[in-house]
Amino acid sequence: MPGKPKKLKAVAYRFIPEQSDIGRSMYALLADLVEAHHEGIRDARIALAFNLAWTADVDGRVTLGKCMKVGDLHRELLDDRGQPYDFIIILRQEFWTDPMTTDLQRRALLDHELCHAAVKLGEDGEPLVDERQRLTYRIRKHDLEEFRCIPERYGCWTHDLEEFARALERARKRVSPDEFVGTTSLYRELVDVGLKIPIDIIATWTADEKRAARTWAILRHDFPLSASMAGMPPHLAAAACTNTSPSEAQA
Ligand SMILES: [Zn+2]
Repeated sequence: MPGKPKKLKAVAYRFIPEQSDIGRSMYALLADLVEAHHEGIRDARIALAFNLAWTADVDGRVTLGKCMKVGDLHRELLDDRGQPYDFIIILRQEFWTDPMTTDLQRRALLDHELCHAAVKLGEDGEPLVDERQRLTYRIRKHDLEEFRCIPERYGCWTHDLEEFARALERARKRVSPDEFVGTTSLYRELVDVGLKIPIDIIATWTADEKRAARTWAILRHDFPLSASMAGMPPHLAAAACTNTSPSEAQA
């Protein structure tokens, strides 16, 4: 008798290598943010990792990111360039990779996590160096609920992004992975949130694309601020563009 397939333990974290498809753009964004706003940690080595296991609390509140300082012991473990990491920024994979999350939201999230990373200062106010002449670091806490600089750069970030993440979670739950989405009902749902896509275009979409469009319509209905084109699934954005071009051509 063939044995029952063994249930394997889930792995909660996934390290993001710099030289991977997703890693390249993420580390480029990281470098860009450090240069623009985080002068003090210019020399810090920062690793990025995904978390796949953070669950939502009863109110649907989810953790989107976390910044951790690497302690002395783990600093002894070197990266592939033979250097130690100073910080690890952990991001919620589900949120980061969601096509409905916008680049600006990703930027705001990473910028926020970088605000937690700071150089430790000695009593003389100068950066504190360890006996191996390395800079030492610390984790900075929020000013109140948010770093003062983040709302200045992105508006009401914490509130908006948390609301958005919650709405996204709800929208995803409302469309089950094998649900049948009819062309006409989807057409109406999209019109309800202000997007008129011709029925014959919707009819060419795959079942997955229809479900993604329906999820977007629910999200947009619950969270109108997320209405930017950047957060649309690609096939929906393409159809929306094609659909508006004839009138633009006339103008
Ligand atoms: Zn924070």
